[in-house]
Amino acid sequence: MEKVRLQKFMADAGVASRRASEKLIAEGHVVVNGKTVTEMGIKVDHRDKVEVDGMPLQDEKKRYILLYKPRGVISAVTDDKGRKTVTDLLEDDVRERVYPIGRLDYDTSGLLLLTNDGDFANLLMHPRYHVEKTYIAKVRGFMEVEQIKKLEGGMKLKEFSTSPAKVHVMSKDTKKNTSLVKIVIHEGHNHQVKRMFDAVGHPVEKLSREKYGFLTLDGLVSGKYRNLTRLEVAQLK
Ligand code: URA
Repeated sequence: MEKVRLQKFMADAGVASRRASEKLIAEGHVVVNGKTVTEMGIKVDHRDKVEVDGMPLQDEKKRYILLYKPRGVISAVTDDKGRKTVTDLLEDDVRERVYPIGRLDYDTSGLLLLTNDGDFANLLMHPRYHVEKTYIAKVRGFMEVEQIKKLEGGMKLKEFSTSPAKVHVMSKDTKKNTSLVKIVIHEGHNHQVKRMFDAVGHPVEKLSREKYGFLTLDGLVSGKYRNLTRLEVAQLK
């Protein structure tokens, strides 16, 4: 095997993205053949012993975790501002360096997958991989049929167009002037659901992801997680 840059080697092993791996290197978390490496240039292959925080990469068991993310937690492994991250919610049973597959906003709750399997994460995040994501949004105001049709038909936002979505108004609160709306989308652009509702004049007040493909939050309370079964992992691939 050809030697590759350390950050690529780490990303391929599922440690974190390349950029996050560079940060880990710069911060002194990475040891190669017994020596801490903080510079970027170095190249390695499988004969080199690479450790991150004392854990050899090559030995890591693959983990697949379904987390019920609470609001007020960052979908990342570390946060510059010192806010709580999703990996802070994991207990001692998860020693591997898992990271979130995609993102939920800081103020969004719901279903988030974490893994240390880079191939699996890349597969699910690939734009061509159309996993259905189901959200419940509390939005301002009451939706007209025309606005629902706009959301459902696919719409042009600033740097991307959405593909067709399913929208269902579940209830209306006439006192608070809000509606509860279920929306199923296939992509995962930044702030996509909020931007879609903004574009039809119904800003989101509260957002939660209820389903990811066939996976649900059943049996979990906010802040808790479970391992995916082998069957679930195989079905997602
Ligand atoms: N869409 C959003 O706007 N926010 C999320 O967290 C997820 C989807």
